Amino acid sequence: MNFIPNILFAITLIIGVGFFVKNVKSLIRNINFGKAIDVSDNKKQRWKNMAMIALGQSKMVRRPIAGFLHVIVYVGFIIINIEVLEIIIDGLFGTHRIFSGTGSLYGILIASFEILAILVIFAVVVFWIRRNIIKLKRFWNPEMTSWPKNDANYILYFEMVLMSLFLIMNATDVQFQAMHSGNIVSQFIEPLFSGVSESALHIIERSAWWIHIIGILIFLNYLYYSKHLHILLAFPNTYYGSLKPKGELDNLEAVTKEVMLMMDPNADPFAAPADDAEDPEKFGASDVMDLNWVQLLNAYTCTECGRCTSSCPASLTGKKLSPRKIMMDTRDRLEEVGKNIDKNKGTFVDDGKQLLNDYISPEELWACTTCNACVEECPVSISPLSIILDMRRYLVMEQSAAPSELNNMMTNIENNGAPWPYNQMDRLNWKDE
Ligand code: SF4
Ligand code: SF4
Repeated sequence: MNFIPNILFAITLIIGVGFFVKNVKSLIRNINFGKAIDVSDNKKQRWKNMAMIALGQSKMVRRPIAGFLHVIVYVGFIIINIEVLEIIIDGLFGTHRIFSGTGSLYGILIASFEILAILVIFAVVVFWIRRNIIKLKRFWNPEMTSWPKNDANYILYFEMVLMSLFLIMNATDVQFQAMHSGNIVSQFIEPLFSGVSESALHIIERSAWWIHIIGILIFLNYLYYSKHLHILLAFPNTYYGSLKPKGELDNLEAVTKEVMLMMDPNADPFAAPADDAEDPEKFGASDVMDLNWVQLLNAYTCTECGRCTSSCPASLTGKKLSPRKIMMDTRDRLEEVGKNIDKNKGTFVDDGKQLLNDYISPEELWACTTCNACVEECPVSISPLSIILDMRRYLVMEQSAAPSELNNMMTNIENNGAPWPYNQMDRLNWKDE
């Protein structure tokens, strides 16, 4: 018996899965650069959110055409994995269509895969036309330059090729076609190969089989570098998404501590700080390490769909703000920090850069109206607003760099107890006018 194909397959599988595990480790390490945050509350509601939003795609279908097509591609991706399992078992043990022993059930399964494959090809073609021919505005914003634009197209090509290979593999499999069960689509492709000898058909079938599985392993490893990481991360991201009412702001823990100390009647106002007292924490965020890990998970999960930007009033009125860009910048900076640590054997060496100014400008941050439309629209529970707010807090509390209108208002509140520049004693003057 010739074991060489099985050995080659095992080596290919080990390399593909090995790289994937390495990428997952880098991903988890980078997300853990973020600060700790307690998200252990209300597990029942969190599971429900994950089931509804990630598994049930409930927010995707708010835009019916894109939502419906996305559901097809998503279901195709999930269900066709059963077929990948068969390929792996066949590859490792030298069997051929091991699940065909299940009889008519196998026919039903493969028939449903074939229908899904053709639907996925249709959906992917429509997606490609929307991006490249119709040129939907949200896919052509300034942040969608070369890599993000190409990345989206590469994945569409990938999916088209993988689905086509699956159908070709079935159409050229003489034994499978002879079963007359499950070949609901491939029976119409088979005549294209009429006149081809059986040995040539076997070579085509084996080639399609190998390229299909190698393509899947490449796809798996490409995910880390692509916006398509959301295929995996949408689940934890929706689970850990905020359960607070939209618009409720988090208190800054560092500020809360300071205020509690100031208000404590038993505290000695003249006490010197303890020798082992920690340096005061930075207020707000100027770089990715100042954000919490859920915000960093958000950045890796962003699908770059642009639904947030297309609903953002600041973006729609021509301001220099795109919530999608906030997420893309956060991810790019996080990747830069990760590479820095890899290069410097596990330590971050200051590179003179940070998220603020080098990626995201104060102009973008102050353009936000804090309306929450981006949070409401996001199909995978991302909050660009929470990053914007933390960076604004840094500008105000660490750099006193708020716009002059805000500074005036804050000074008035401090001095007069109201945003207006009038003495508190004059508040009721209007009644005499
Ligand atoms: S919260 Fe800010 S970033 Fe989000 S949609 Fe509103 S204005 Fe745009
Ligand atoms: S933040 Fe959400 S809505 Fe905005 S581009 Fe990313 S996935 Fe889409």
